[in-house]
Order: sequence, then C-alpha cells, then structure tokens
Amino acid sequence: MNARLVDLVIANGILVTPDGMTPGAVAIDGGRIVATGSDAAMPPARRVIDAGGRHVIPGAIDVHVHIREPGFSHKETWASATAAAAIGGVTTVLDMPNTNPPTATAQAVAQKIALASPQALIDFGVYGYIGEDNIAELAPMARAGAAAFKLYLGSDNPLVPCPNDGAVFDAMAEIARFGRRVTVHAENTGILRWREAQIRAAGRDDLQAHLDQHADIATVEAVSRIALFSEWTGCPVHIAHESCRHSLPLIADAKRRGVDLTAETCPHYLFLSMDDAQRAGGNPLRVKPPVREAGHAGPLFEALASGLIDMISTDHAPHLPDEKRQASIWRTAPGFPGVETSMRLMLTQVAAGAITLPDYVRMACEAPARAFGLYPRKGSLLPGTDADIVLVDMNAAGIIRGADLHSIGNVTPFEGMATMGMAVMTLVRGRVVAEAGRIVADHGWGRALSAPA
Ligand SMILES: [Zn+2]
Repeated sequence: MNARLVDLVIANGILVTPDGMTPGAVAIDGGRIVATGSDAAMPPARRVIDAGGRHVIPGAIDVHVHIREPGFSHKETWASATAAAAIGGVTTVLDMPNTNPPTATAQAVAQKIALASPQALIDFGVYGYIGEDNIAELAPMARAGAAAFKLYLGSDNPLVPCPNDGAVFDAMAEIARFGRRVTVHAENTGILRWREAQIRAAGRDDLQAHLDQHADIATVEAVSRIALFSEWTGCPVHIAHESCRHSLPLIADAKRRGVDLTAETCPHYLFLSMDDAQRAGGNPLRVKPPVREAGHAGPLFEALASGLIDMISTDHAPHLPDEKRQASIWRTAPGFPGVETSMRLMLTQVAAGAITLPDYVRMACEAPARAFGLYPRKGSLLPGTDADIVLVDMNAAGIIRGADLHSIGNVTPFEGMATMGMAVMTLVRGRVVAEAGRIVADHGWGRALSAPA
C-alpha cells in the first residue's frame, strides 16, 4: 500500500468506464488521478468524500457550445455558461467561434482565452472559424490555442459567412497538415437560401416553414460532400448536431471507407419532434438544423447507442426570452441552452434501460475526448490523468425548469420534463466546483486546454 498522503479520496463509489462498473474508490493528488481500486487499497488522504454507493464517472465533455462572449454577454457569459455546465456534470467545453468579433484570427483566439480564463469554472477549448479570407491564419490560430475548427455550411449569419467549396477544400487541406478536427454545420447553403426565399414569398412564418426550409436533403447532401472532402484531403471532420436519419447510411459508409469522420447528435433531436412543438412552446423550438418530424429520433438514438454516432453534445445556444418568443419564426432566435440538462436527460434513458451507464460514459466522455485529441487526459478515470470527475445519483428525480437553470438565456424546450438521475458533485482537476446544484469554487479555476500544464 502507498502510505504517502494524498489530497483526496472519493470512497465507496461505483466506478464507471465504457468497459463496465466496479465498486471502488479514486485517489487524487495534485489535480490528477493517482489510483483507482478498492477502498482498502487507497492511500491515506487529507480529505475523504464518501460517494455513498453512488456512481463515479469522468466529467462529460461537450464539444459544441456557444458561450456568446465576446459580443453577446446579454445572452450568456463565460461565468454563467461554465456554472451551468459544472452543475450539469460537464467538465470540459469547446466554444464555437460565432461571437463578435468572430474567432477568426490568432489574435481573436488569444483574446477569447484571455476573456474566458478569469470567468471559467471548468476547462475549455476554443474553436477557430474557417472563412474564405483566413486560410493563411488557420495555422497561427492553432498555435494560439484553437483546439478545433468550425466550418459553417448553410449559415446565414453575417459574422461567420459560409466559405465556397473551393475555399473549404483548401482550408481542409491546410488543416490536415497540422492536424485539428473540423466540426461542420452540414447543410447545403443553396437549398436553404432558395427555399427561404420561396417560403417567405408565400407569406409563411411558422415553425413548419422553418422545417420546410431545412429539408432533409440539405443536410444529407452536405454530410456527403464533407465526407468526400475529408477523404480527399485527409482532414479529420466531425458532423455537428446530426438531426436526420437519412444521413446515417452516409456516415456509416464514410466510416467503412476509412474516412476520419466522427458525428454527434443532441438531446433535442433524440427526445423531441415536431409533434412536441406545442409542448416546447412553439417557436422557441426553433433550432438549426431543425427538430424534424417524428421518425427521426428513434434511428438517431439507435445510432448513438451503437456508436455509429460517436457522441452526445448539446449545441448549447442561449437567447433571452424576448429573442425566443417572437410571433414570426424568421425573427425567433435559433437554439437554447443544453449543458445543464443533457446529462439528466441521458441518465433518464439509463434509468429506463434504453442504454447503460457505461454506454453513456462512452458517448459523453470517452468518445469526445478521443475525437478531439484530449484522451486520456480528459474523459477517462485512468491514473495520471486530470481528475475531472462527476458523482451521479441515479435515484435523483427532478423536473426541468428553465427558471432553475444557470444560463442567462434560460428558455428550454425541455420545460416540465421529468428526469431520473443527475450529477450531484463535479470536480475539475481534483477540485469540487459544483455540489448539489450550487457552485462551490471560484471563477477562474477553469483553464484553456492549450494552457501549459
Ligand atoms: Zn451550434
């Protein structure tokens, strides 16, 4: 037995990895896991946390989050978003570049990390934007700390315009040289623009008009194209927020061909459909890509459970209630918060027997860490890695209420939904940052992934 005194032991838990569950304990020293095993095998510790027989999992990693700063602090700040994430059991987020200014230069990457660092409660990475005019800036952005890159196809946001296919191909070839993953909002810009013009000209402005604009073929075509570009350039790609069952055979085919392609889906595509529009508040359900008709969620869930879709993310995208509750769908801001509710929603599926807790750890912790080059430092319980750990209470029942969420923009389409299972304690690099729904650490504990250890 190691007799050296360590900082902390989490005792009397059930350790969960993708391979299974075992009763045991975790010893932590200097922010790292130093041992896992039986309670009796743990070294003496300055502090012992009794897990009380609850499950001990790696912290969740959400690779698709819009924190809104700089530029949109009225919707969300680094302080509010990372508090919401910590309470929700998320210990690492990757932040999207559609801020103002957009994260499109090495300087903007450095400025965002400087803005985030004093506010963050959990660790974070920053995405760099890919545009027609910044291909020469991609390598400097990576050197400045961009953890990954975001490619917008089908966006109408003037801050992050969609590059043409020639620029997309060249940017991917460039990124393949130094190696980062490119996360793609995969929709066909031409189809979206054409349909929007026609639908608006017909005077339609309801949620169904939004769905009709974002036709299945728009995303299926873009997934197909990006898989082909990845195959030709060798650039690793990640399909963001998969919403459509018709993309699944294309994802399977790309993986069979050996394309370095991963994919995510989000709780709203798994647990909501257009049939829920009324219950979800109508227009506030607006999100891009859209929540589609009933019939997509089942195959998407099966694909996530089987690993064809690698991981669960949230596309966390808060807006103020006034921005979400507009009469016209075209003026209704797309997106809603996700980091605080995702684990609860997925654990509810565990409680129902649809997936196992090891399945959840694979899709929420290990798979995102592997895809984005963070494994095993993040997303595992292996000795030597960051002690990012969540205690889960599978018997904690609750009801999701927007008013209880810690995001500034707290309109949620899951309002009123009953959940079973939740994070009750979150540790980042060995420090308890959230406990029983409250923040218990100082802002600024979170670190940029690029920061030297
Ligand atoms: Zn997004």
